[in-house]
Order: sequence, then C-alpha cells, then structure tokens
Amino acid sequence: MARARASQDIHQTAEQVRAGDRRALARAITLVESARPSDRPRAEDLLNLLLPDTGRAIRIGISGAPGVGKSTFIEAFGAYVTGEGHRLAVLAIDPSSRRSGGSILGDKTRMESLARNPGAFIRPSPAGTTLGGVARRTREAMLVTEAAGFDVVLVETVGVGQSETAVADMVDVFVLLISPGGGDELQGIKRGVMELADIVIVTKADGVLKEAAVRAAADYAHALHMMRPKYSGSAPQVLQVSSVEGRGLAEAWSAIQSLRETFVSSGELSTLRATQLRRWFWSEVHEALLEEVQSSTAARSEAERLEAAAGSGEALPSAAAREFLARFRGS
Ligand code: GDP
Repeated sequence: MARARASQDIHQTAEQVRAGDRRALARAITLVESARPSDRPRAEDLLNLLLPDTGRAIRIGISGAPGVGKSTFIEAFGAYVTGEGHRLAVLAIDPSSRRSGGSILGDKTRMESLARNPGAFIRPSPAGTTLGGVARRTREAMLVTEAAGFDVVLVETVGVGQSETAVADMVDVFVLLISPGGGDELQGIKRGVMELADIVIVTKADGVLKEAAVRAAADYAHALHMMRPKYSGSAPQVLQVSSVEGRGLAEAWSAIQSLRETFVSSGELSTLRATQLRRWFWSEVHEALLEEVQSSTAARSEAERLEAAAGSGEALPSAAAREFLARFRGS
C-alpha cells in the first residue's frame, strides 16, 4: 500500500517536473541528491519516468581557478542566453564544500540577478562525501532539469584537482576560463585540464587588463595548437570575454553552439555520451561498493586496521587490500 502510494506520488512529481513546476523540480532534485538509501528506489523510479524527456539539452562544463571570474561570467552569459529565449539550469560540482561547509553556488551573493531570472534555475552543489558521490547526484540533477525543459545546462566546477574530469565526463562542451595573466599563468594550469578544454575563454578582457587579455589569448592559442586535438577537428578556439562590459558573450555562445552542432553531425556526440554513460556505470559500481564498506561497522574497523598496517609498512598495501576484500566477501 505504502509503495503504491509512493509510486503515485512519484508519477505526480514527474508530471509536475515536466510541466515546469519549480517547486516540484527542487523537490525532485532533493530526492535524487538524497544520501538516504531508503530514498534511492523512489529516486530511480522518478528518473526512469523522466528519462524519455532528457538528453536534448546543450550540456556545458565551466571550469577555472577561483577568482578567474566564473560566477560573473555565468551571470552575464546566463542573462544573454536566456535573453535569446533559452532556459538555463546552473549546477555545480564542488567537492570542497564538505570541508568549507559552504559551496561554490551556496553563497547567496553569487549570481543574484540570475537567481531572480525566470528563465534560469540555479542549484547549489550538494555536500558529498566523495567526488564520485557529488558527481553522481549532479548527473542526475542534470537529467531532472532537462526533463523540466531547460535546454542549456551549465555545470560549474572550481579549478581544483579531479573535479574537472568529473565535469568533462558529463557535458558535451567543456569550457575553461583563464585570467589575463599571460605566459606566467600558462605554467600554472595543469596540462591535463588544458587537454579537457573544448573552448578556452580569457576573462576580464576590459580596461587595464585588455592588452594582457589579448596577449594571453595569443599565448593559449599557440600552446593549444601544439597539443593533440581532443576531437578530430582543430585545436580549441580561444575567445576573449568581458563579463562586466558584456562583450564576447554572443561569440562564446555561438562558438559553443557551433561546436556542439559539429559534434552532432560527425557522430562524436553520440559516441561521447555513450562513453560517459559507460563510465557512469562503473563509477556507480565503485561508489556502491564503497558505500557498502562504509555502512558496515565491522568492515570499517577491519579496513582501518589494515589501512594502518599498510601505512606503517607492516603489510604490503596490495596484500592488505586483498585480505580486506577476502574478509569482506566472507562476512
Ligand atoms: P570566481 O571565483 O571564478 O567565481 O570569480 P568571480 O566571478 O567572483 O570574479 C572574481 C573577481 O574578478 C571579482 O572581483 C570580479 O568583479 C572580477 N571580474 C569578473 N569578471 C570580470 C570582468 O569581465 N572584468 C573585470 N574587470 N573584472 C571581472
């Protein structure tokens, strides 16, 4: 009985999400983001109902070091794109939020005007225990926003560690923002992150920084030319934007759109999305196994004991891991 009621309630939520009801959308995302195992079956029922209405949005990843101008860019770009008649959802991957207690989109002063824009929907990053956990929920939140009719989804990440890879793994076009720091800056960006970029945007191309932005754009264009292209096409485009003056936004949007159209017509987009789904499957397996281990007190203490043994050099890490798995399977 309870289950039948739950399913009716999920059908209703799915209907409301499809109809663009924002409260239902927020509720649906809360459900898919829930870390409670008992919420999972309902979350999956909901996602299955919504699945036919997903996949059509342009999925854009935005990354860059703190202070590069991500939120200012997203505000300006969001205003432009919604002004063109699109509906924009902004999500975030921020594995650091569990440490700071806040999140990159959690600060209410960020993207204030976009938050009030009826054509936009902003969702702060969920607090996750692992990057994989945060990424999973963001992927599912993306599906929910697509079903709600958002045709442009922007996933933001702060330029730290592996979160870029996680974002690149769920979007069609990955955009890297860099500041107009010229050659010195070039050294600071990890090659791995540069390799993920489909489009590079030099921010703050205005006022006293304008000249520096022109030089930085030339330096990056040169550096990217030297690298192996990510796709069969040419090297990533390097653009200059001033979010405060609103310049370069139309060019950025048209570069993103035309790149995606190229991917669609070459068949690369469907290959990319299939690869992403396969990787998602394995990351779910990985996460589920970790969760199982974490949820068992006995397994956790066994893991801690063996971890300590590996750490002190008492046991070979690989042997300790095998011993742990053998005991875990046997338990
Ligand atoms: P985030 O940490 O990457 O989200 O960066 P913010 O968007 O918060 O911007 C960091 C700083 O750069 C702020 O002081 C902004 O005012 C400034 N900034 C952002 N975009 C521009 C721009 O287009 N031109 C100029 N001159 N400053 C900008």
